Amino acid sequence: MAYAVAMMEIAQGCASTAVIMAVNNLVAETIVRFGTEEQTQRYVPEITSGRFVAASFGLSEPHAGSDAGAMHTTARKDGSDYVINGTKQWITSGDQAGVIIVWARTGKPGTKGISAFLVEGGSKGLHVGRHEEKMGLRASSTVSLSFEDVRVPASAMLGPEMRGFPIALAGLDSGRVGIACQAIGIGRAALEASVRYAKDRKAFGQPIASYQAIQFMLADIATELDAATLLALRAAGLKEAGQPFTREGSMAKVFASEKANRACDVAVQVHGGYGYIDEFPVERHYRDVRITTIYEGSSEIQRIVIARNVLSW
Ligand SMILES: Cc1cc2nc3c(=O)[nH]c(=O)nc-3n(C[C@H](O)[C@H](O)[C@H](O)COP(=O)(O)OP(=O)(O)OC[C@H]3O[C@@H](n4cnc5c(N)ncnc54)[C@H](O)[C@@H]3O)c2cc1C
Repeated sequence: MAYAVAMMEIAQGCASTAVIMAVNNLVAETIVRFGTEEQTQRYVPEITSGRFVAASFGLSEPHAGSDAGAMHTTARKDGSDYVINGTKQWITSGDQAGVIIVWARTGKPGTKGISAFLVEGGSKGLHVGRHEEKMGLRASSTVSLSFEDVRVPASAMLGPEMRGFPIALAGLDSGRVGIACQAIGIGRAALEASVRYAKDRKAFGQPIASYQAIQFMLADIATELDAATLLALRAAGLKEAGQPFTREGSMAKVFASEKANRACDVAVQVHGGYGYIDEFPVERHYRDVRITTIYEGSSEIQRIVIARNVLSW
């Protein structure tokens, strides 16, 4: 719950900082949950203290995003080591990471042949690709990572062999609550800017805030962001209590990200032409919020998760 609240507040100030924090948290939490004592001691204090500038989550590939189980990256056993080859795409902070969780195929095709590894930044054969020129979140780096015979000891495996995919899913369950909170923070920033602007801007001799059309827009987005907050806090509360929260996390993510997108769209409308130029912050919020319905599982994937759960009743 504390993390969820912190994420909302930080995202309200800077969505890029929030995503960097979200991924660091996701990696550290996944190591604590599935790693050995030695792995936890070695990496988690580095991440939480900031001695590692960042940590990364290396799941997506150029041809496998939503369908991450179709990944091509392999880890071949060689004596007591594994040798990793392949390419990961869209890796947040991949150029800065002290440690990267890398998912690779150690067995047959499909989700049951995937294992997870802890690969250190700067490992021999690990190449950082180009920095993507993104629509938003421009203060967070997003890179591809290619692995050319990257050798890691067997002790770098995170969790049991071939159990990498459930580890990724468990991480994403938690990550989605964080992204819901990130979206809410961006949406609140857009709302706050809109309220300020609507009181200040005059048209036809009156502040635009006096017009009911503007008031209703603000009322709707304020209500939707509050509802999103309650959904996100419900998911966080379930998680904190050790209860299942997959469905609630997906509900929070799909609702919060879509409503926050709407809030930013409305904010641009309230600002008129000034919403379309970079002199006012809502232009940035509009660009930053767009990704929240896509990463850590798109809205379509969240609906699949929710529907699967509902249909199992
Ligand atoms: C800025 C940024 C940062 C990112 N950071 C990371 C990171 O740190 N680590 C990481 O591993 N990944 C990261 N990603 C990748 C991100 O998680 C993927 O982009 C996302 O999962 C979607 O995958 P995709 O882009 O391959 O789209 P696709 O999977 O190709 O999807 C394309 C469209 O098809 C839809 N679709 C796909 N399957 C179905 C289906 N079964 N039913 C209905 N619709 C479907 C999708 O919802 C989407 O609308 C990042 C991406 C971005 C842009």
